[in-house]
Amino acid sequence: MLYTFGNASGVSRDDGLVVIKPSGVPYDVMKPAHLVVTDLDGKVVEGDLRPSSDLPTHIALYRAFQGIGGVAHTHSEYATAWAQARVPIPPFGTTHADYFHGSVPVTEVMPDHQIASDYELNTGHAIVRAFQKIDYAVIPAVLVANHGPFCWGSDSGAAAHNAVILESVARMAFFTRQLNEDAEPLGRGLHDKHYLRKHGTTAYYGQAKESK
Ligand SMILES: [Zn+2]
Repeated sequence: MLYTFGNASGVSRDDGLVVIKPSGVPYDVMKPAHLVVTDLDGKVVEGDLRPSSDLPTHIALYRAFQGIGGVAHTHSEYATAWAQARVPIPPFGTTHADYFHGSVPVTEVMPDHQIASDYELNTGHAIVRAFQKIDYAVIPAVLVANHGPFCWGSDSGAAAHNAVILESVARMAFFTRQLNEDAEPLGRGLHDKHYLRKHGTTAYYGQAKESK
């Protein structure tokens, strides 16, 4: 990531605590001691540095999406290009379908009064609104209009992984549309096959997981 762009966090549901990147510390000098621990109201309970200014967005997601354990936000170029164009990323192929069960949606444009005050919290609310009719568990990513992607997962590592996959999918989708502006999403059967063999209740991709 460039300079201090982006941020990531994780939540402990049992403790009601969030661990998040500090504000404005470059990744190459960041140490675990720099991380900031807050409660789910955003109050710092551990750490000497200020939390990422996007903390209220992360907390809004943790409150609304009870099944997630981590959030990652980047300004990765291809995903951000789709966000800036305000175009959802269509599921053009099986790489997309392996991770996202449908298009990656774009939030609505925020009105100025939502930007003037509580901007980061309102960004979180805009994301939650974009998922009113979409299951956050099967599409763990969103494009915030004119801004960039937020991704989530079972923990901060899974959220960061999804952010990397999203960028790859966004890049491929960009080229797909360049090669054929009328390119169609993959068919429902192929989409379901790829998503469900990895994520469904009868998933069979990879190695059997040890039961915890
Ligand atoms: Zn940002």
